[in-house]
Amino acid sequence: MSNNANDNIIIKKSETSKIDSVDFENLSFGNVFTDHMLICDYKQGIWEKPVIQPYEPFLIDPSAKVFHYGQAIFEGMKAYKDGNDDVWLFRPDQNYERFNKSAKRLAMPEVPEAVFMEGMKKLIELDKQWVKNEVGSSLYIRPFMIATGPGVVAAPAQFYRFMIILSPAKAYYSGEVKVIVAEHYSRAANGGIGAAKAAGNYSAQFYPTKLANEMGYQQIIWTDDATHTRLEEAGTMNVFFRINDTLYTAPTSERILDGVTRKSLIAIAERENIKVDVRPILVEELIAAAENGTLQEIFGSGTAAVVNPIVGFSYKEKYYELPKQENSLALQLKAMLNNIQYKLAEDTFGWTV
Ligand code: PMP
Repeated sequence: MSNNANDNIIIKKSETSKIDSVDFENLSFGNVFTDHMLICDYKQGIWEKPVIQPYEPFLIDPSAKVFHYGQAIFEGMKAYKDGNDDVWLFRPDQNYERFNKSAKRLAMPEVPEAVFMEGMKKLIELDKQWVKNEVGSSLYIRPFMIATGPGVVAAPAQFYRFMIILSPAKAYYSGEVKVIVAEHYSRAANGGIGAAKAAGNYSAQFYPTKLANEMGYQQIIWTDDATHTRLEEAGTMNVFFRINDTLYTAPTSERILDGVTRKSLIAIAERENIKVDVRPILVEELIAAAENGTLQEIFGSGTAAVVNPIVGFSYKEKYYELPKQENSLALQLKAMLNNIQYKLAEDTFGWTV
């Protein structure tokens, strides 16, 4: 291992690379990690110097608060390679901001921009051969923070660990997605942590999603917790509905994650003169549109898949099939966003870094 310290980040380079043992043609999302990771510890009010080192397990006290009280947050973003082998990030400022918003909500310290951004850039620079130069391939970036401070006392920790790990990803194809509209369970509540990327939001989804899977649905369309009459998110994605020629999506709120893909798709749609109406959408409107034939498309939006078209949904034990689309708006918008991410089209918004 070679040690190489510059002013801000300590770099301990791995002497060997795992890259030759990886089958890039058959990657399963989120299961393979690159050679290096970034660690930055926070001790009683002070962020230490970030360290980039070989990817490996680490020791942690069994009483660390992350295990007992779930003080854990994360982000999900991607790096893309263009035709000149340059690596691009997509709107990383948005993920950085959202990360610190999540930190604040979970009573965790905010991560300095230099640690998050410079750390991420240095780490990707070191592992850039893991980003393949081909549309669809990308490097999934997972910044996260956990409470490492010990003590089975329900109060915020004094010690935290911020980390970044990287996972090479292929074009995401989830198969046909059928969803069920939630009538009982909810992913978030007003005053809760739904707008944060807090680990607990995801574990809370596992059980209702497992029930949905057993009934033959891949995902749940989450409704508001109080009345279950408003359509809010789809699985771990924001959700869009096309009725006639208008796209509808719910406004972000305390219950809905402010998705980077969602807001980017809205901006692209507006540039393309596609009508977008950001307002609460009622379950009864969806049913009416499905019944009168005006419902054209439903799709989820998120970093992993960009858009994930939904083929049908179930509500109160009735299944509604969506019409087959020759040239869906979902796929048109996905192509336009991908073209910006892979630098195949001019980035008129200035989103790529
Ligand atoms: N909603 C939830 C609950 C999510 O976990 C995600 C994925 N981060 C999204 C929406 C989509 O957000 P983004 O477009 O920023 O990936």
